[in-house]
Amino acid sequence: MTIPVRFGPYGGRYVPETVIPALDELAAAYERLRDDTDFKAELASLLKDFVGRPTPLYRAGRLSEKLGGTTIYLKREDLAHTGAHKINNTVGQLMLAAKMGKARIIAETGAGQHGVATATAAALFGIPCAIYMGEKDIVRQELNVVRMKLLGAEVIPVSSGSRTLKDAMNEAIRDWVTNVENTYYVIGSVAGPAPYPAIVRDLQSVIGREARRQILEAEGRLPTELIACVGGGSNAMGLFAAFLDDGVRMTGVEAAGEGLDTGRHGASIERGERGVLHGSLSYVLQDAYGQILEAHSISAGLDYPGVGPEHSFLHDEGRVRYDSVTDAEALAAFTMLSQTEGIIPALESSHAIAYMVKHSDRFTADDLVIINLSGRGDKDVHQAARALGIMS
Ligand SMILES: *Cc1c(COP(=O)(O)O)cnc(C)c1O
Repeated sequence: MTIPVRFGPYGGRYVPETVIPALDELAAAYERLRDDTDFKAELASLLKDFVGRPTPLYRAGRLSEKLGGTTIYLKREDLAHTGAHKINNTVGQLMLAAKMGKARIIAETGAGQHGVATATAAALFGIPCAIYMGEKDIVRQELNVVRMKLLGAEVIPVSSGSRTLKDAMNEAIRDWVTNVENTYYVIGSVAGPAPYPAIVRDLQSVIGREARRQILEAEGRLPTELIACVGGGSNAMGLFAAFLDDGVRMTGVEAAGEGLDTGRHGASIERGERGVLHGSLSYVLQDAYGQILEAHSISAGLDYPGVGPEHSFLHDEGRVRYDSVTDAEALAAFTMLSQTEGIIPALESSHAIAYMVKHSDRFTADDLVIINLSGRGDKDVHQAARALGIMS
């Protein structure tokens, strides 16, 4: 099967012409390697012994009871190495980079989570790595900056524009245009120009393949609904992909931030329009001129002004439903899961939990739900404590 360039009208390659040969080279390498026996065996071995897969599918008994008796399972991506699903993608892309003979890795990062996952995989493969990060984010996310440096990555501060993720994205693309011959650009979600959205989806789809096998083993039937948070959309696509051909309901939960009508949110599908970001056509938050607006969410990982093109397509097709929850609702779910199950979730993942809490009366005791717990909440405890008034 060839690698899709578009999902309906979405996707494509809205990039400078100079990088088209590099995208062609990547697509050709991926098409050749993805079915290669040695490549698959090496990736499987790294996912097992380095990442810690398969991650458990955990039956959240107390949460199920608390929310009216619907059986709820959590896919425990929080237990993967580095504490989130992002490592599934970066290990796979670093393997591609190594096989393609690339001598240098670049990436951009907002909160630093993708930067840390990329720096981790780059260290694993021994390839030098530079991470672009907005100056404002460097101040806000000091711990992740330290982690990247400890892992041997160079963190390049970006002082242009709003000094946040979108500016770091522009700088990373500029670097790639200049150094495209020897440099591999690691994109962190199901976004970017083709073939990235398909590659990242495939690398993350291990989540759904495992969950499918695990739920059949535990319950003897498929789930009735899947729920996942959506920033760029990679943990959601990773879970959904293995179930798209079944009749399973799927919900992607975006960040409503301080409220959809405040303008301070990250709900690109619910409130965005068709536009171009990060080299592809999708739903984005933009002004009348097509300039990208800043997103807002209490969770840094959902603070992205766009969404992967395949999600825009699945939305228009009606195959996946998209909804949103606010910062306050996510925070309440963060506390609830911590105290009901002894699991402190990432604030991103708390959005998926919050959707289930908010709509629990729509579910029955016959429903069987899998929620993707995309990451652990250690990184968020200070912010959550401040928001909850536990700590100043
Ligand atoms: C980055 C991140 C997300 C959002 O990214 P997606 O591509 O939408 O998955 C969600 N959860 C966690 C824990 C993250 O680190």
